[in-house]
Amino acid sequence: MKQKINYDTEQNCLIPYNIKGRLQFLINNKNIILFTFLKLKIMEKEEYDIDKRVKELHGKLGKITQDKTTTSVGLTEEQIGIVGSSEGRLRKIVKKALYDFEIEAKGQSGKHAEEYVIDEAEKRDLKLTNISASRPICIECQELIESKEINTNTSFSGKKSKKRK
Ligand SMILES: [Zn+2]
Repeated sequence: MKQKINYDTEQNCLIPYNIKGRLQFLINNKNIILFTFLKLKIMEKEEYDIDKRVKELHGKLGKITQDKTTTSVGLTEEQIGIVGSSEGRLRKIVKKALYDFEIEAKGQSGKHAEEYVIDEAEKRDLKLTNISASRPICIECQELIESKEINTNTSFSGKKSKKRK
């Protein structure tokens, strides 16, 4: 299912339709009009900082999981955040913490968190402009990010990762 997004710059509101299978809803700066019975987690999009966000979401995981996995957050031109894990899907605790303009990046195992985010954006026809990761970005992901002209403030490790996880 392709998701339709309209960004109305005049009214400064984001109107995602059926995002994550939910009913239609509308968000603007001050007012929230809900057409859904699900609880929405709203924040001002101007405050959305993917570098902070990736730390925040990764920090929700247990210490061991934090050490063995990577979390990545991407921001698209359409003002949708994409959150991915090196596990190929998000743990429940992270999924529960997602804002309503954030979606989960899902894929078959064996890739890096950044790759899941990039793939998810492509699957949904979203234009990824920025990406952040919870650890330095490996050389393969760096090449991918640079080839797609995506911006990042995360440092590059300059190394290949030992395993594709
Ligand atoms: Zn990588």
